[in-house]
Formats: sequence, structure tokens, C-alpha cells
Amino acid sequence: MDAKNNPTGQDLRKGYKGAAESILREYGIRVWSETEIITKTGKFRGIVLPRAENTDDRHIVLKLPNGYNIGITVDDIVQMKEIGYRQAHYKIPEKEFPYDPSKPNVRLLGTGGTIASRLDYRTGAVIPAFSPGELYGAVPELAEIANIETEKLFAVFSENMGPEQYITLAKAAAKHIEEGVDGIVVGHGTDTMHHTAAALTYMLQDLPVPVVLVGSQRSSDRPSSDAAFNLLNATYTAARGDIAEVMVCMFGPTSDLYDLLHQGTRVRKMHSSYRSTFRTLGDTPLAMVNWRKGITPIKKDYRRRDKSRKVKLDAVFDDRVSLVYYYPAMKPDIIYSLIENGYKGIVIAGTGLGHVNKPLYPAIKRAINEGVHIFMTVQTLWGYAQMYVYDTGRDLMSLGVVPLGNMLPEVAYIKLGWVLGHTHKREEVIKMMTTPIARDITEREPYNGYLVYQGGLPEVQRFLKEYLR
Ligand code: ASP
Repeated sequence: MDAKNNPTGQDLRKGYKGAAESILREYGIRVWSETEIITKTGKFRGIVLPRAENTDDRHIVLKLPNGYNIGITVDDIVQMKEIGYRQAHYKIPEKEFPYDPSKPNVRLLGTGGTIASRLDYRTGAVIPAFSPGELYGAVPELAEIANIETEKLFAVFSENMGPEQYITLAKAAAKHIEEGVDGIVVGHGTDTMHHTAAALTYMLQDLPVPVVLVGSQRSSDRPSSDAAFNLLNATYTAARGDIAEVMVCMFGPTSDLYDLLHQGTRVRKMHSSYRSTFRTLGDTPLAMVNWRKGITPIKKDYRRRDKSRKVKLDAVFDDRVSLVYYYPAMKPDIIYSLIENGYKGIVIAGTGLGHVNKPLYPAIKRAINEGVHIFMTVQTLWGYAQMYVYDTGRDLMSLGVVPLGNMLPEVAYIKLGWVLGHTHKREEVIKMMTTPIARDITEREPYNGYLVYQGGLPEVQRFLKEYLR
């Protein structure tokens, strides 16, 4: 193929090597071409995507019309035919984000995840869309809400977030808040957004303005993408909302009626692919938001926006903590290995009201004797660790395991890392862990919270109508 037929100058077989590159060459197939591939098992049609340099040489990656990518093994390919070629647009047209002095100012901090990228509608190319100009090009309605400035802190999928990133993020947010922004939006992968939401809750105290985490479950090349709707709602909440808490803003019901605002310590990703994946557990969400209609509070007792309040940055974390998800027949060697590897805190997600089997007791005893702090949460996610009900619970408490009420296991893990960043003294650690912060432990769980958890079902809509009357 000469330069004339490759006006974009893009690599014709970008990322393909060895057998995969040979077969593309043999049939004259270019990356980004719409191609029909006949294999031993059937016929596929889609767009040939480029490959990352470090992938294998035996697969051709095809984007199907339904948006999914599949890998086709070179050995299975019988024939390939290029049907059309569409030039990839890596760049979203940069438009200058209009500045309007009458609008609130929002700072968007990017960490990565699906929300940080946008897929070219026609080709399926992943393009970073993050500068204000690119964002404006992609979602122009944002300018109706606020003036936005962006800052890319990391570009990682969220399984790669950790203490170091939490601290950098908290410091960046505190700096912009001190400088006077009206709200912070954090773009984040959804998989571990609830860990980061908890970390920011502990690290950013006395917030004067909202800090809103947002992500998307579906990339923007899919007609069903939630990226723009979530981003608009998060920006609206940060710019104009009255709730000065760390929150997660994601789809409420299964359709784009409204997003829910979840308290950063009570939220969890509950579905691997639904857009309505985030649920408040053990409580009701804080509010509903639709940027065209406004915010409808569900709870009344939240911290109000007040720009005269000073944010307190408390960004510390001791990463020698672990979260152990108990399973029947767990062996004590798990606990011994944590002790031997120098871990200083363990959160157990126990069964039922907070239990583990008897063979673990000696290991737990040794851990506590050696200064490891052990706390109990429940795998049921709703309800409380109540360790005085059965003698097994009482036994564990007498060994020194401390129940954490209805604190969610992941939240307890983050809180323990944060607490151990302050102190290792047993009484102080226990006091800090069991003193509620931002509803991480609540006195009561509303029965109707459990109902809202089911999200978007007709009975939930009826409940919300009744509740908000
Ligand atoms: N794996 C991605 C992440 O958590 C998924 C997403 O962005 O929603 O970073």
C-alpha cells in the first residue's frame, strides 16, 4: 500500500507481528479496515483494531458491530476480505472551553479508567479525551454547567490505584479547594472507585465543597454509554450541589433517568457490567441528580457547602494492612503468613454476624499478641457484625478481635491503613476505627435502603415517589 492509499500515515498493521502480521499482509488487510474473516468455525465481520506492542502474534482483533472486541486465532483463518476502510481519528476537535465568569469553577482530576478515554465512533480507536478542549468537543453541554479545568494525575485502570495514588489525589484536591474552586470531579475507573472514595473521605476532612467521583461502565463508542450522562451529573453536583461530601455519582436505575449520589464510605460496585452498578449499602443514597432537573436529596443530614470552611488534609496510609475474605475451611497459615510478612492490620470479612472457624483462633491470638490489629466486618454487606450473639463471636472478641458494626469490608481496609498511618497504639487504633466518620458506621440501617439497593425496579420508583412526597 503506498502513501496515497494510506493518507493518514498510520501504521498499516500497527502492533501486529509474526504470524498475525503475515496473514494480514497476505490478504492485504489494513488496521482500521472493515473486514470479513472466514474461519473454521464461522464468518465474522468487523473492524480490524491495532494491537498493543506487547501482545502475542497469533490473534487478529476485530471490533464487532455490537461494540465488543474479539480475538481471532490466526490458525483458524481460512480467508479475509477488506470491505472498507475508515480513517481513525485520534484527535477530538479541540474547541476552546468557553469561560463564563458567572459560572462556578470545577476542577476535573483524571486518574484513568474507561471515562478517561473516548472511542472513535466509526473506528473503535481509543482516544484520550481529557484536555478541557477535548472534553468540550466530546460533551459540549458541560459548558452550560461550569467552567472546567482539567488535570491528568494518572492514566491507569483502577486496579492499579493504591495508597500512593490516594495520597497524590487527596493532595491535589486539597490544593485546588484551598485555591477556591467550587467543586472537584475525579474521573476514575469504576472497579475500585469505592476504595478511592473511602480513602478520599478519610484524607479530606471538613470539606467546604463537593468532591465527586465519576466513571463509566460502557465506553463512549457504544450507544448505551453512560460516560457523558455521568460526567454531566457529576459536574453539576460539584459545581452547584449543596452536599459537601466525598461522593460517587453513577447511574441510579438501569436507564438514564438520574444518577445517584452515594456517600463515599457506604458505596460499592455491585455488578460487573450494568451501568447501575454502584449501590449504597446499609443506608440510602444521599440524593438523586439529573443535571437538567437538579438534585433531589434523599437524606437530609449531610454537610452543606460552605466555602468559608477550611479543608483538612490528612493524607497518610500504612500499607501493611490486609483484607481477608473468610471461607469455610480456611487454614491458619493464611494468618501466620501475614504475621510473618510484617502486616500490622487485618480486616476480616467474616460469615454471618462475623465468624471464622475455630482452627484460626490460635493464629489470631498470636497475631494480636504480636501487635497486629484485627477487626471484623461481615460478608453479607448489609447488617452488623454482632459478635456477642454466638459463643464463637464471643470467643473471637475475647481474643481481641474488634467488630466494626456495619462498616463495609473494603472501607474498613482503607480506614485501617489510614488509621495505622497515624498510630499503632492498640487503644487509639480501636478508638479511631470504631468512631464513625462520614457514616462509615451507622446506628441503624433503614429497611427501605435495602429496597433502594435493588435500584430501578418499579417498586423502588413507587417507594421513591412516596418517600419524596
Ligand atoms: N477496568 C476499568 C477500571 O476500573 C473499568 C472502568 O473504567 O469502568 O479502571
